[in-house]
Amino acid sequence: MARSIGVLVSGRIWVGVVEDTTLGAVRVYPGEEQDHLDLKSLPADAIIERIRQFISEVRDGGPIDSVGAGFPGIIRDGMIEESPNLGQLKGLRMRERLSTALRADGLDVKVCIMNDADALAAGLAATRGGLDRLIRVWYLGDGIGFGRHPHGEGVWEAGHTVVTLDPRERFCGCGGLGHLEGIVGNRAMRLRFLDMEPEEIFAAARHGDPRASEFANLWHRALAAATANSVHIEGAGRFYIAGPNADFVDPGLLNEYLQDMVKMTPLQGSLFEIVRTSHDVALIGAAVCSRM
Ligand SMILES: [Zn+2]
Repeated sequence: MARSIGVLVSGRIWVGVVEDTTLGAVRVYPGEEQDHLDLKSLPADAIIERIRQFISEVRDGGPIDSVGAGFPGIIRDGMIEESPNLGQLKGLRMRERLSTALRADGLDVKVCIMNDADALAAGLAATRGGLDRLIRVWYLGDGIGFGRHPHGEGVWEAGHTVVTLDPRERFCGCGGLGHLEGIVGNRAMRLRFLDMEPEEIFAAARHGDPRASEFANLWHRALAAATANSVHIEGAGRFYIAGPNADFVDPGLLNEYLQDMVKMTPLQGSLFEIVRTSHDVALIGAAVCSRM
């Protein structure tokens, strides 16, 4: 039986042991009962050290075939080329750093580094019986991740898809104008509504506050627009939605906007599905990818 480690650095640091496609022991930092900590403020060395320690704990002395780790940003050939929401990781040769740290613990195995949303897409493919199907997933958090399985060559930073030509739309973490993340991302929402948290904006929208309602519609239209762009490039299909802000999604409204944007008959029939506890699925995906 294959036994691998899955790692996910997204909001928190998650490490789990995965046997075939079943998740066993998991460690998380900060834990649910611990104070909130923004990973941005944690130096890269401290992140690596925490991962190393957690791997040693969940492994519990047992054999391990491989380690797969998902990080936000553009990841190529084991290196984190760019990570707007975890800037301290930019330029890091993470595969090398993690391999070296693990070898110090006597663990000399293949280490695979990937985009966190791609890990989630692979996990959805592995656990929902679709390894041969095209899987696309939006991860809605501080940043907007886009995961795709099977993994394709390329960058796939669809969270930075341009969804508006309005030059005032400048809230994206990467600094680009008109980006999806600049409307839908948490950081961007806080910059737009300086006096309200994202939860409060959506609560106010439900109670009919005009400014909040208008924004909630824009938020859904932006996500529909980026999805429509993906449909026009790769065709219709199932789009999963995950992450802490998946709760804000009104699937009916999103579908309605998408239908307004996609009119060609062969491209119709896409659907949205919301995924809860996506970190579990992403840990499985990271582990499964590391075996390929
Ligand atoms: Zn951007």
